[in-house]
Amino acid sequence: MAQYQQTLQQAHTIDDIGTALADRGLDLGLLERRMRAVSLESDVSGDIAGPPWRPDDVSALNMNLVPTRYGGCSALQSLVAQATLMACLGEADASLALSLPGPGLAMPPVVALASAEQQARFFQRFQSGAPRWGAFAITEPDCGSDATAMRTIARKTGRGWVLNGTKCFITNGARADCVITFATISRQMGRYGIRAFLVDCNTPGFTVSRVERMAGLRATQLAVLSYADCEVPDDALLVRGDEKPLDDAFSGAQRSWDYFRPLLSAVMIGTCRRVRADLAAWLDGGGTPADRHQHVAGVEATLLDIDRQITAAWLLCHCTAWKTDRGIATPMDSSMTKAFASRVAARVTRVAINVAGIDGITSCPSLEQAYRDARAFDIMEGTGELQRLMIARAALRSMSRPWDITEPPSCDTTAPDSSPDIANVRQSGRETSHDA
Ligand SMILES: Cc1cc2nc3c(=O)[nH]c(=O)nc-3n(C[C@H](O)[C@H](O)[C@H](O)COP(=O)(O)OP(=O)(O)OC[C@H]3O[C@@H](n4cnc5c(N)ncnc54)[C@H](O)[C@@H]3O)c2cc1C
Repeated sequence: MAQYQQTLQQAHTIDDIGTALADRGLDLGLLERRMRAVSLESDVSGDIAGPPWRPDDVSALNMNLVPTRYGGCSALQSLVAQATLMACLGEADASLALSLPGPGLAMPPVVALASAEQQARFFQRFQSGAPRWGAFAITEPDCGSDATAMRTIARKTGRGWVLNGTKCFITNGARADCVITFATISRQMGRYGIRAFLVDCNTPGFTVSRVERMAGLRATQLAVLSYADCEVPDDALLVRGDEKPLDDAFSGAQRSWDYFRPLLSAVMIGTCRRVRADLAAWLDGGGTPADRHQHVAGVEATLLDIDRQITAAWLLCHCTAWKTDRGIATPMDSSMTKAFASRVAARVTRVAINVAGIDGITSCPSLEQAYRDARAFDIMEGTGELQRLMIARAALRSMSRPWDITEPPSCDTTAPDSSPDIANVRQSGRETSHDA
């Protein structure tokens, strides 16, 4: 605990991060203001309005989430710093925060599963003055929570691999340049048949079939991707060169979830802060609560409760990020963070709408937008129900054995021996899928 408190004092503030990004040409304050300005328009159009970034910002945005050894910003190599940045961007707009250029969810599986040469090739794509997006495709129309039941098939040929199947709900899938695609070489092998491929979106046979009309997080453009005899070269298969052939690429997907659950939580915590600020500003400006009999003290108590919830969620998120940076986080830490942040986001946005009523929502539409974004957040990266199921299982295990539930007994034989810097998540206690 003392070490945690000490590190909290030394942690990067958003000002430090802003300064580091300014050195790379990105004006964080301006980006945030421009994101706020196009927030509603992006929500209505279901696309990135503007765009909110200037041409000068693009290189730095592309390189967010890129490890330093491939040119990434040294101030953004820890999950604590990333979470701090994402909370700031989420305060501007959750959907746009998740739609900014960069490798996104594709980063952790590449760092976990790819050889040094493959990693260099992948991250080099982002060294560009034009916006570049990466995407991560595992969910299919018939399997989401149990992703190990996937049907997308990878068949070996003399020249490489042929992929056939469909992926759905892929964040930034319609604007991505490359997609880390999970496919099975044999459904009978379960998770051990799963492989990860780097698919260039120009590959013949790869198409974006549709962009979903979502209720929340609409600018992320969740896409349905089709692979019809999509032939990729041999080296599209992610294989760590320094180890025996990888027979559990699914652990790479788990890396992504473990790494991103705190980051997504940070985005939604930022959104809750904005909801809190917008609600208070509306009340300050003379807005009358929907329940006209509610006393001032009642409204103040509601705002205080919102503050308490947001602070608790942020502390949990920060603690998980801190543990991840030290290689001592478990999947339970990430699950608890997301499950809690998701409940907080649902509660804060619902309470804000209840207080503001129809008058408040009309003059402050961001409240209603945040409510829809919170619903989508609960589903992505494993639904709230599944997170709670995982937490309950770990808790039951800990009742029969004296472990802290954040430290389930190690039964994992798949974790890589060494964890790379930016995706330093130790794997333990995993079974399968989102439902691990
Ligand atoms: C905004 C957003 C972004 C996304 N981005 C991506 C992405 O980039 N890449 C990607 O691959 N996928 C992405 N997804 C897909 C997401 O991971 C899945 O939607 C999610 O895992 C749930 O799968 P499903 O939709 O098939 O629901 P299902 O698995 O069919 O679940 C339906 C309902 O049943 C419940 N349920 C299922 N199994 C159990 C169980 N064992 N016990 C109790 N309840 C259960 C679920 O909680 C849910 O309420 C995204 C989704 C959203 C909403």
